[in-house]
Amino acid sequence: MRTKLLAIFLLIILPLLMLSCEENARVKTQEYYDLFNTVSTVQSYLGDTDEEFDENCDTVYTTLSEYHKLFDIYYEYAGINNLATVNRLAGRESVEVSPLLIDFLLYAKDIYSLTDGKTNIAIGAVTKLWHGEREAAEDGGEGKLPDSKLLAEAARHTSIDDVIIDKASCTVFLRDPEMSLDVGAIGKGYAAEMAKRELEQLGISSYVLNIGGNICAIGEKPSGEGWRTSVRNPHGNGYVASVVISNTSCVTSGDYERYYTVEGVRYHHIIDPETLYPAEYFSSVTVFTENSALADALSTALFCMPYSEGEKLISSLDGVEVLWITPSGEQFMTEGVSKLKSE
Ligand code: ADP
Ligand code: MG
Repeated sequence: MRTKLLAIFLLIILPLLMLSCEENARVKTQEYYDLFNTVSTVQSYLGDTDEEFDENCDTVYTTLSEYHKLFDIYYEYAGINNLATVNRLAGRESVEVSPLLIDFLLYAKDIYSLTDGKTNIAIGAVTKLWHGEREAAEDGGEGKLPDSKLLAEAARHTSIDDVIIDKASCTVFLRDPEMSLDVGAIGKGYAAEMAKRELEQLGISSYVLNIGGNICAIGEKPSGEGWRTSVRNPHGNGYVASVVISNTSCVTSGDYERYYTVEGVRYHHIIDPETLYPAEYFSSVTVFTENSALADALSTALFCMPYSEGEKLISSLDGVEVLWITPSGEQFMTEGVSKLKSE
């Protein structure tokens, strides 16, 4: 009897195991460590040859590294004007930049309007003060708070209207000499979206891009299934939810990602433009939507507003699903997330 049961069990399980082994054998992975100060991964489930995969990775890498350079606010690169150039010449000169950067800046302005100023790339003067103190503290360790007067003074130089864009001449001018741009809240998602579109134009799908945790699922697996992706528990090890996605991006803003401590209290890197201090509504906000740039921009914005406001914003948009986790561990989610979670 036992042998018979074992035989039946093996008959059912073995093909499944073989299937998943076969699928795993077909999955190709390439990692990059020199983009956006994080780890980026390209995965193919398409079953393409090594040569095809290498070519597709080159396409992705070329796009990502172009945006990496354009968005860099710390270094300038020979032959191009980037955001570091734009910031350096604030109040002084209008800077000619790549049309790619102009399109991005226009998008970021739209995001400012959409999020009622919660995701504001002109917040650089404020985030710079927090960044300075976080860097001074050792790796998540003890440090000090930025001076509150300096924060208030910096906040006077964060007007998005002072980012003057001329699309026809491809120039950008920061009208306020004290202002600076910081695109950390949108940059990775936007770059991933652009890389995705490059692949799509080549007719490629069944790929997953992961730019430092910003996941961009292009199409679905050849089997027609989606990819299971998990949302980290912001308060400990493991995961709080796992959903299956296809043709969707998934981006989390969390208070556990980058932080330091002052007198035992944690201060993270997402700044509420109203208080000028790290936002306290949530421990993490995860956004699922097709456009990776929107997912990134919204995750930061929703992190900086109470649930009621965020819920209102989301219900005005199509195809956006969200999982909010509060500091006490309470979860709020849109209908789509609860449906996907239970599948
Ligand atoms: P992560 O960078 O961890 O993916 P986010 O997408 O939420 O997380 O972006 C946070 C980054 O965006 C910060 O490190 C900072 O550079 C910048 N930033 C912080 N607060 C804001 C804000 N309110 N608006 C725009 N940018 C912000
Ligand atoms: Mg973001």
